[in-house]
Amino acid sequence: MDRLIYLDNAATTKTSPEAVEAMLPYFTEHYGNPSSVYGFAAANKEVITQQREIIAGVLGAKTNEIYFTAGGTESDNWALTAAAEAYASKGKHIITSRIEHHAILHTCEYLEKRGCEVTYLDVDENGLVDPEAVEAAIRPDTILISVMFANNEIGTIQPIREIGKIAREHGVLFHTDAVQAFGQVPINVDECCIDMLSASGHKLNGPKGIGFLYIRKGVKIRSFIHGGAQERKRRAGTENVPGIVGLGKAVELAAASMKERSEKETKLRDYLIGRIESEIPYCRLNGDRTKRLPNNVNFSFRFIEGESLLIMLDMKGICASSGSACTSGSLDPSHVLLAIGLPHEIAHGSLRMTLGADTTKEDLDYTVDCLKEIVAQLRSMSPLYEDFVKKQGNH
Ligand SMILES: *Cc1c(COP(=O)(O)O)cnc(C)c1O
Repeated sequence: MDRLIYLDNAATTKTSPEAVEAMLPYFTEHYGNPSSVYGFAAANKEVITQQREIIAGVLGAKTNEIYFTAGGTESDNWALTAAAEAYASKGKHIITSRIEHHAILHTCEYLEKRGCEVTYLDVDENGLVDPEAVEAAIRPDTILISVMFANNEIGTIQPIREIGKIAREHGVLFHTDAVQAFGQVPINVDECCIDMLSASGHKLNGPKGIGFLYIRKGVKIRSFIHGGAQERKRRAGTENVPGIVGLGKAVELAAASMKERSEKETKLRDYLIGRIESEIPYCRLNGDRTKRLPNNVNFSFRFIEGESLLIMLDMKGICASSGSACTSGSLDPSHVLLAIGLPHEIAHGSLRMTLGADTTKEDLDYTVDCLKEIVAQLRSMSPLYEDFVKKQGNH
């Protein structure tokens, strides 16, 4: 099987050839340490500043508000732990949602063990956080609200502007995990009253192991990694120069092509959703139909195990992802699908397909054809489905 259809762009994306091209000289001829004084190396400091400018420009931020990290997970950990520490004298209460990425949820659990109190907001059946619920959860000792911009499993885009406004009105810090949204949808940190924002290179056709945290000027936040004076002394360690250059290039490309790519992907996304809904019975679209990332499709198929579906799609050369926790071997259905109210057995039969810049209509036609066949085959082996069909017949 030489055909490869990659529909897992929420897990990671291909680094664009332009980003790779831009990075290469920083492995070879421009290898100097940006902290060195001689011109040969110091030029790399300038290059890093240029990438900061590109990113800040896209977000409507200032250049010195962008801090490079080793990716989305680090940015999320930094934002939460450092804010909890820096604002400990004000209080210990944090508000977040039940559908955050584990980089947020597990950091919250860690902070709870260290004396913080965390409110985990429920979401509705489409995965939306209610801004009024955010407001109602604010207490005098609330120091931070962290709500993701868009969900990585079901693609739902949150009312970030409304939530940011509420946080600002109450004088509470607002962080958003924008790892899935940044590069896909327009984001302006001022319009949305965002104080901190996490993003990652490999989710937007940049390299892996590089990301950034936007920290608004004036936000008190402690160093995360202690050592040298890099990143304004807040995140020590010799800079990942090739990674930063690749990230900058990826951000530049994503911003320049966003409108066109988003229109194209939204059309393809809705085409895929439409074909599945009309051709495969007993399925359910997860996530909001319109407040949704342009590249995300997530379905539950009744009487099916998501894992079996993935294995059989893999045999057809199709890469997708299921709703099970990404920790391999875990049989727990995804916390996101449970939070939107799916019963365990339905959450188990879930499939996420996330499109990329190269995805074509032909890829999706082939995928639906395979999916129809596989779903029918798996159902034909399911005793539950057999019972269900018998019962239907009796009516
Ligand atoms: C992928 C992802 C992360 C983690 O980013 P890494 O760069 O892989 O560490 C965090 N949050 C969300 C929403 C993600 O999709």
